[in-house]
Amino acid sequence: LFIFIPKILCKMKLIALLVQSIILFISGACAQDPDSIVISNFFNKALQSDEAYRNLEFLCKNAKGRMIGTPQMTIAIEYTRQVMDQMGLDTVFLQPVMGPGWKPGDVPVASVSSGKLGNQSISVLPLGNSVPTPPGGIQARIVEVKGLDDLERLGKDRIKGNIVFYNRPMDSTLLNTFAAYGGAADQRVRGASMASRYGAVAVIVRSLTTATDHFPHTGMMRYDEGIEKIPALAICTADANLLDEWLQKDPDTRCSFTTNCQVLPQVPCYNVIGEIRGSQFPGEFITIGGHLDAWSNTEGAQDDGAGCVHSLEAIRLFRELGIRPKHSIRVVMFMDEELSQTGGIAYAKAAGENNERHILALESDRGGFAPRGFGFSANGKTLETMVGWKKYFEPYGIHEFARGGGGTDIGPLAKLGAITCGFIPDWQRYFDYHHSANDTFASVNKRELQLGCAAIASFIYLCDKLEY
Ligand SMILES: [Zn+2]
Repeated sequence: LFIFIPKILCKMKLIALLVQSIILFISGACAQDPDSIVISNFFNKALQSDEAYRNLEFLCKNAKGRMIGTPQMTIAIEYTRQVMDQMGLDTVFLQPVMGPGWKPGDVPVASVSSGKLGNQSISVLPLGNSVPTPPGGIQARIVEVKGLDDLERLGKDRIKGNIVFYNRPMDSTLLNTFAAYGGAADQRVRGASMASRYGAVAVIVRSLTTATDHFPHTGMMRYDEGIEKIPALAICTADANLLDEWLQKDPDTRCSFTTNCQVLPQVPCYNVIGEIRGSQFPGEFITIGGHLDAWSNTEGAQDDGAGCVHSLEAIRLFRELGIRPKHSIRVVMFMDEELSQTGGIAYAKAAGENNERHILALESDRGGFAPRGFGFSANGKTLETMVGWKKYFEPYGIHEFARGGGGTDIGPLAKLGAITCGFIPDWQRYFDYHHSANDTFASVNKRELQLGCAAIASFIYLCDKLEY
């Protein structure tokens, strides 16, 4: 018996060893999917680094309010050019862009007054591209509407000589806040042109934000050709609610304000571009970018400093891991997205003139929040493949992979045949900050920002492996 026990133990040990080896072999084979190893390396490197976060801090603290034509923009251009230079990219260059400028002027002094309720100052900002008020300001009665359709119902009799107050909030029941933004933005973009047709003297637009706060959220507006240009302002949501209350108690409530914003002629500026040359298809381009300009009342952290440093860090991670892509990869800091989108137009125009083949472009312009996924304009087999990449990203909490998405600056590249993609970070808080003084470096979380960089690098790495 004493002789046999060790022998049985020996056999059991052998079986255990064998089972162990099989398990190790199987798990080893799974872990050896080379793409998931590369992706895990991207995430490890990004989480160990604070490069993107520090670049963002520089842009926010040394170049806040960097609109086209401002000295802050010159600083931002030079800084990001140097960041690209230090990465040792194959090419770094500035691409000339001409765009109309606009100065917001002084913070307007504005107030509401009512014979019944008294006087109260309100927080407003001019909308981008708006003309100023006459030097003495504007004082008039207010007509509140919920949208452009209300103007026709009210007609010229009710609107002529008054200020139109657009007060339709973003729909808070929509889970996707970008859809809610899209559903309310017509008031800001076209509100002045429409109200002008009915003889309004100015428009005040409820800030496009899901928050109730005291920050006016500005943004771009446009005048239709041939209409009389009237001043357009954003009012903070807290004061929009107050104004609505006063108007219910006293329909004769009046508003007065003075703005001295300035529409400027064409100003010269630049897109900042860095490139890693592709090893197999150097004439085929993948573009990653964000826009370098930011509203004058903001540090431009979420919009769109985050997208700029995401893009810079993504390409730096390629360098750090020693990955030379098959296709040429360009990182682009686009100029003038907020006012006139001339940077994106100039980039696509030059691409067309140089006969470059642009296969894919990705934009990050939705803030620096934790990554949730990607949207893309791909079709057929490519679409299927991209949706299938979800499996690589799920371990990092990233799971939105669907058709749709892109970005304002890369939009013009679609005409050249590029697949356009949008990086999707978490969307619940973006409009708390968007285009307001609230959009500061302090609002960005370092880990969430770095995770976004890794997600973008990983996505672009997979895109580079496809055949186009
Ligand atoms: Zn933006």
